[in-house]
Amino acid sequence: MDGARPPAFRHPWPEPPAPGQATEIAEGVLWMRLPLPMALDHVNVYALDDGDGWTVIDTGISSKKTRGLWSDLMAGPLAGKPVIRVVVTHHHPDHVGNAGWFQSEHGADLVSSRTAWLFARMLTLDVQESWPDETLEFYRSAGMAPEILAKRMSERPFNFADTVYPMPLGFVRIKQGDVIRMGGRDWDVHMGNGHAPEHATFWSRDDNLVISGDQILSSISPNLGVYATEPMADPVSDWLEACERLQQLARPDQVVLPGHKLPFIGLPIRMKQLIENHHGALARLLDDLDAPKAASDCFVTLFKRPIRDGEYGLALVEAVAHLNQLYHTGAVTRARREDGAWVYQRKGSDDAGQDRNLGRGRRSGGSAPVL
Ligand SMILES: [Zn+2]
Repeated sequence: MDGARPPAFRHPWPEPPAPGQATEIAEGVLWMRLPLPMALDHVNVYALDDGDGWTVIDTGISSKKTRGLWSDLMAGPLAGKPVIRVVVTHHHPDHVGNAGWFQSEHGADLVSSRTAWLFARMLTLDVQESWPDETLEFYRSAGMAPEILAKRMSERPFNFADTVYPMPLGFVRIKQGDVIRMGGRDWDVHMGNGHAPEHATFWSRDDNLVISGDQILSSISPNLGVYATEPMADPVSDWLEACERLQQLARPDQVVLPGHKLPFIGLPIRMKQLIENHHGALARLLDDLDAPKAASDCFVTLFKRPIRDGEYGLALVEAVAHLNQLYHTGAVTRARREDGAWVYQRKGSDDAGQDRNLGRGRRSGGSAPVL
């Protein structure tokens, strides 16, 4: 939590809705919650009244339990009216998990960005019974502690298919600049990035509501991670670009409906904080790279606290993300350590030699290193 808030920032509904219940945010807009089996123990979902039926925003992780809760919600607060459309803000399992179930069991249309749909369906079909070599190589490159790597290798890999209901063919694409009608309002579609590629957010033209998914959260900073799928990705730059663009749309009167934690008022303040948090993290990290360090060596600098076992995976992918940003902007060089980890060092500090990653690739401009 961020501690004391300026008065311009507040949570109009301090208590979340109980399981199976809904809180009315505005006419035709309901807020509900579904449980998650992890440290972040819930996801927010919303239902917008379209007259003949409901549009649902995000769907929770796939499990019998969450589908049972959805059935309770449909019979209860949704008053037996059908769910005719499911909008998924981004491809992560806590949001897309039951979308396929709404499509195949309830005849709902799925609406999402093309990238969200392609990622969700690709990852759901790509079942891994054992760890792919690329993932292990990625973990070693990030400097994952050997005992943690060994423990992971002894367990079944994380699979989208375990937490996402099978997704049938077909979806309706939304893209940057679209306008979509839901819940008796027209909403501008603005794409976020960084937490998930082509992450949809919705900005009401008719009142003060903003549906922000995980792009904008009130009291936690969305995880920006790099994965074996794209080891050279720079989600921190993607995130900053998106947040600076969305910041232009922020008004003090908007009610923001996020994917986790509580709805809030005070978007201009929150956008500023979200952006500054990452600039601060990048500056701290760069300061600390006077000697070569792997991603796994940067947790305390980056997060300003020790990382517990349950957070290690998220911390590691976020540390790689920040190091990749410094690397792509040419602030650091990197070299392989004996154990296979990439170690990063600030340019101009002692022993910061020539970059030794001489792979093929493009130059990203200016003083940026070869990719
Ligand atoms: Zn989420």
